[in-house]
Amino acid sequence: MNNALRNTVMKRILVFGAHPDDAEVGMGGTIAKYARQGHTVRIVTCTLPDKSEARLQEADAAAAILGAQHQCLRINPEEMRFDRKMTTALDEIISEFDPQIIFTHWIHDSHNDHQVVSNATIAATRKNTCSVYMYEQTIPGGITPFSFRAQKYIDISDFIEEKTRSLEAHISQKSKYGEWWLYGVKGRAQYRGFQIQKKYAEAFEVIKDIEC
Ligand SMILES: [Zn+2]
Repeated sequence: MNNALRNTVMKRILVFGAHPDDAEVGMGGTIAKYARQGHTVRIVTCTLPDKSEARLQEADAAAAILGAQHQCLRINPEEMRFDRKMTTALDEIISEFDPQIIFTHWIHDSHNDHQVVSNATIAATRKNTCSVYMYEQTIPGGITPFSFRAQKYIDISDFIEEKTRSLEAHISQKSKYGEWWLYGVKGRAQYRGFQIQKKYAEAFEVIKDIEC
């Protein structure tokens, strides 16, 4: 493929996660798949909730397994609220990275910080220059009165190993939740895969689907 053609098809894909591991749980297989296809994928973590430096290193290692860049905004956890400052922080990333596709949290996720990032993403993409999708509620997650409307499916059958390894890179979380955490994440990918007659898949809700 010559460079001119390559430039026309390669995309910049931005993945917002409130905390380290959110992106991997929600869409680690998709990130690995896009990266393998040659797209530039950047995971942006907004805040480090506890054991900051260890969690940052885990997130860097997980992103490397998936073939993605990792950036941490280091927003104070106490300042994780949907306001002008949060939206501006995401605005700046979007202006600099200029993505064609953005993934963010599900807006009805039960975690406050996840909702904040989802709302801020919607506000920061108000110019409608790229597609925006939401990945499923992070695991573990609380029960909510809303249903996730799986609208876009991505076959990750060939990338479940990368997804699993990226989760295992979050050593602190694996020791906190145990093997059941991995079973839960992998089980959901199996369920989504079964729905589209593949081994594993990840599902997304569409906020806007823009192709230029
Ligand atoms: Zn989280």
